[in-house]
Amino acid sequence: MAPGILLLRLEGPMQAWGSHESQFGMRRTYEAPSRSGVMGLLCAALGVPRPEAGVRLERLESLQMGVRVDGPGVRWWDYQTVGAGRQMPIAELAGKTKPGPMLSRREYLCDASFLVALAGDAELVAELAEATAHPFWTPFLGRKSCPPSRPLLEPCPPGCADAEAALCAAPYRRRLPGDPIPATVALLLEWAPKPEEPEAPNHAEVWYDMPVSLEPPVHRARLVTRTDAAVGADGIPVGPARQRPAPPPRRPRADYADTEYKRRRLERLRLDEGLCVFCKAPGNTVQHVTYRRAGGGETVEDLRALCRLCHDAVTMIEYGLGMGLDRIDPCEARWRERIISSRSGILQQRSLEARRRRLQSREAE
Ligand SMILES: [Zn+2]
Repeated sequence: MAPGILLLRLEGPMQAWGSHESQFGMRRTYEAPSRSGVMGLLCAALGVPRPEAGVRLERLESLQMGVRVDGPGVRWWDYQTVGAGRQMPIAELAGKTKPGPMLSRREYLCDASFLVALAGDAELVAELAEATAHPFWTPFLGRKSCPPSRPLLEPCPPGCADAEAALCAAPYRRRLPGDPIPATVALLLEWAPKPEEPEAPNHAEVWYDMPVSLEPPVHRARLVTRTDAAVGADGIPVGPARQRPAPPPRRPRADYADTEYKRRRLERLRLDEGLCVFCKAPGNTVQHVTYRRAGGGETVEDLRALCRLCHDAVTMIEYGLGMGLDRIDPCEARWRERIISSRSGILQQRSLEARRRRLQSREAE
């Protein structure tokens, strides 16, 4: 059966698709709509409150997402102060504070235009299209201060087999009548293992934006590949510039969410005696030492049991190094000192945040 495909035009004066680097005072944006941002937008349209989004997100996970960058926009910073009389910590570990505002810098994409395709179960897609046309809550482009400047729903050209085909067939749209038409537009497509391509290609990128929960925000990684689609003279992209073999029948993605990966994950936890391979605390999560087979084709050798703290520590090192598909193996001695120092950094940050929360609640009393 042909999949349903939802096409969303995300265009507005400002957009902000918070990246994993956007936790503290510096709130950065991805270069294009993130998976978590788009899922958040759909949950708002459906009227699903953020704390209750978990079950919905599991269902939305089966959708394959692609983004076409019709206009990348310009990056812009906003400087914000929050509350002038807060007790802000000054000497972080000594617990001293002084009255002052909380500072935050927020990054935006200005005048950008994206076409997002979500392909999957036709019934689910129809439900999402209906919700997008009659949203329960006002949709926004990543942050509440970023409204869209045109209707979100765009018609999908008939006969498209997947998200990529839809993005290649949908007409390019100029934002203003005099705007030049570019020769190519970038496509950001999700990668999943296929029989003819069981391992991710070297150019695949790791994006930490697959939402597991919206509140608190919890994400896992997904793989994204980049290609270019040529834009025809009449403004219709005519397909990816890169030549590819005709795709075989797709493996339904809903299947892998339930079984293969979860089985491997449990097997790894069992092999590691249910203990974190780094600190021997109860291990309740696994680390991918490589993403080359991620998305369902992992072997137990690609995984290591870790506790949450060590996993966060390792992930922070990986962010810092901008690592690609091959990740940190916490069993290797060469990472030992760095993991120890990253762990203590996280513990310090957490105790600081706990202190800040205590101060704020005392202030509120
Ligand atoms: Zn640990």
